[in-house]
Amino acid sequence: MAATGHISPRGVRWPLLKHRRRLVVYICAVVTLHVTGIVVFAAMTPIRWQDLVTFGALLACGGVCIEATRRLGMPAGVSRDLLSAWWLPVAFLLPPLYALLTPIPLQILIQKRVRQTVLHRRVFSGAAIGLSGGVTSVVFHATVSEPSALDGGSAAPIAAALACALLFSLINTPLIGVAAYMANHDIRWREVLWDRESAILDVVELCVGTIVAILCSISIFLLVLALPPVMLLQRSLLHAQLQAAARTDPKTGLLNVAAWQREAETEIVRARRTGENFALLLIDIDHFKQVNDRHGHLVGDQVLVEVAATLRGQLREYDLVGRFGGEEFVVLLPHTDPGEARQVAERLRRRVGRMSVPVEEGMVRVTVSTGVAFGGVHGDDLLTLLAAADLALYQAKALGRDRVCLPAPRRPGPAEMTHADEHRRGRGEHHGRTAARSHGPAMASQDRLKGC
Ligand code: GH3
Ligand code: MG
Ligand code: MG
Repeated sequence: MAATGHISPRGVRWPLLKHRRRLVVYICAVVTLHVTGIVVFAAMTPIRWQDLVTFGALLACGGVCIEATRRLGMPAGVSRDLLSAWWLPVAFLLPPLYALLTPIPLQILIQKRVRQTVLHRRVFSGAAIGLSGGVTSVVFHATVSEPSALDGGSAAPIAAALACALLFSLINTPLIGVAAYMANHDIRWREVLWDRESAILDVVELCVGTIVAILCSISIFLLVLALPPVMLLQRSLLHAQLQAAARTDPKTGLLNVAAWQREAETEIVRARRTGENFALLLIDIDHFKQVNDRHGHLVGDQVLVEVAATLRGQLREYDLVGRFGGEEFVVLLPHTDPGEARQVAERLRRRVGRMSVPVEEGMVRVTVSTGVAFGGVHGDDLLTLLAAADLALYQAKALGRDRVCLPAPRRPGPAEMTHADEHRRGRGEHHGRTAARSHGPAMASQDRLKGC
């Protein structure tokens, strides 16, 4: 693996080594297994011209699809494509060696032409797909003695192909999922291994891959007919993902501020209509500037990603979690009474406090301060609630950070709002933390706060 030092902080030239040891071992094991598979199968696979031609044709189709993706653009974090439409036929129609090899040129093409990512991630993805394809191919060839039987239209080989395509997903998803879980234990297993959208896409891929394999087994020239509809499917898939990406903050994957505000407003209107309890949390990482100053911005970014994943992992699916800006996060908790909201905020604070991000010099730990506001108690609309939570957060900072605060159960009067706003304006940023520090605990008695 080549070094990608230009994006590494403080002279770390191997981003892979910044990960937890177990994850590094896991990535190396998967890549080693993949390389071993290639060497073993290369030694026992006779090279035949028609195999090379079929392989070249399917790779070319994959390459054309990647080029089409390039023109459309690919949002960060998106990993779903329809490329298995091309590597499933490779697994079914050719010896397993080719299924092991297929992801290598395609991943290189994606890395060079579509989206550059950290090299070890790309190599790992290729190895995971290669291994899944290799095992799929071995099982298919063991089940169906003559793969070209797919062109006869009989049920048995087609059923075997569908079952093996399913096997491909069943191997590939956990292979990638384990790495995601090792990278961040706060991710839920269920999220890693199963979500409805992904399952639907898996079924689509499975069907398209099998159809392309049948066409290709009839005649390689039929790939010309398969290519346009697969490209169209891929474009619509990417379009949907681009739309989803427009709602998310690219760094953390949480809702961006505009999407969060929109969805929170809708949720608040609904909660007021039905009379349900809801709460709002404003969460700010303490002394985050020091993390950047000591370890560099990339480590700072890593901390943001991990805090975001911890928050998301601790909350229910319908809680709205957004990145409010910089190192601030905002959460709307529907169907939540004040007691529960405090407990949730406390749990989030403790979980983030226990989190650690490995760096060259050891571990980075951070704490968070949280302001909580309850719907109906501290305000009825989003702006008022945000202002109340902001005031409470401001107080949590003033009282020493790493704590949860809530404002008094009434709306802050105009004088208080102006007071907080003045501090904010004074520093030209959101919360006037410097002002909080300079006023210190004296502020605590001025603001009617409790529970800090
Ligand atoms: P406090 O406890 O008072 O909140 O102190 P703080 O250092 O967390 O707050 P301050 O507002 O002084 O600094 C926030 C820092 O967050 C400064 C800014 O460079 C950093 N920051 C904002 N967005 C990002 C980002 O996306 N990545 C990184 N690495 N840093 C960011
Ligand atoms: Mg801040
Ligand atoms: Mg901060």
